[in-house]
Amino acid sequence: MKAKQKFITRFAPSPNGWLHLGHAYSALIGQACAQAHDGEFLLRIEDIDVGRARPHFVDGIEQDLDWLGVTWPTPVMHQSSRFEIYAEVLAQLQAMQLVYPCWATRREINQAIEASPAGTAAWPRDPDGALVYPGLYRDTSEDQRQELMWRGDSYAWRLDMQKAYELAAQKTSQAIAYTEMSSGQPQRQTIDPRAYGDVILARKDVPTSYHIAVVVDDAAQQVTQVTRGQDLQPATAIHRLLQILLDLPEPDYFHHPLIRDVSGRRLSKQAGDLGFRDLRQQGMSREDVLALLPPISLPISLS
Ligand code: GLU
Repeated sequence: MKAKQKFITRFAPSPNGWLHLGHAYSALIGQACAQAHDGEFLLRIEDIDVGRARPHFVDGIEQDLDWLGVTWPTPVMHQSSRFEIYAEVLAQLQAMQLVYPCWATRREINQAIEASPAGTAAWPRDPDGALVYPGLYRDTSEDQRQELMWRGDSYAWRLDMQKAYELAAQKTSQAIAYTEMSSGQPQRQTIDPRAYGDVILARKDVPTSYHIAVVVDDAAQQVTQVTRGQDLQPATAIHRLLQILLDLPEPDYFHHPLIRDVSGRRLSKQAGDLGFRDLRQQGMSREDVLALLPPISLPISLS
């Protein structure tokens, strides 16, 4: 009989700001799931955006989690030390001819969309609200690509979504789906990555994006449950697609509700929402901070 795999989940912040209450909630839910399963809770630092990630935010994340009473094993995986691994995965996708270089600037993309018969207003948007990439450079010939490479301009590696989807469909002979655990019962949900169009998977100088790094590292760390906010639920379609194409194991997913402010807006670093470090510095205790969060209760069958 196959031994049951150990439950492993993770909290994977990007160190480009202080943690806010939403992060605190996410880490506490992850830790509670790990405890309920007698499993492990990992911290992973997602610092592939070297332009924005800062070491003092990494320290701040660790101090804040520690203050909250969250614990994790060391050493902590830092994605910035794994670019060579991501480059190999990108090379694999290149060899499968599932990605293509795209030199389109934002301006060029917007102009192509504006010039479409029904204009920008009718143009499809992806689940995150961004205009879907119109496919410029998808069918560029090899000769033209060589010439553009020689010019030295910046480019992005985009996934040929239709081709990737067809290959995945052939490999699984089933619709792409994932298992959602947030209700306490495993729920199989079909999810279509095509709504995202040809997403960017890497750039000329950075051999990864969030999408490649997250699936590669969840597999490398043998994560059995990805715990994260509901804002990332739609992107799970891209992650499942990549897992199928790259023959990576499929974890379960627990997408927890987002913490919102009194007006119902979800908290974000970009909007400058209070880090709970500020709350701490204002003299709040751990209990005061916990009282600002919904109860960290797990669905019945998990607890
Ligand atoms: N690094 C991502 C963030 O901070 C989270 C990634 C994930 O949990 O999959 O938003």
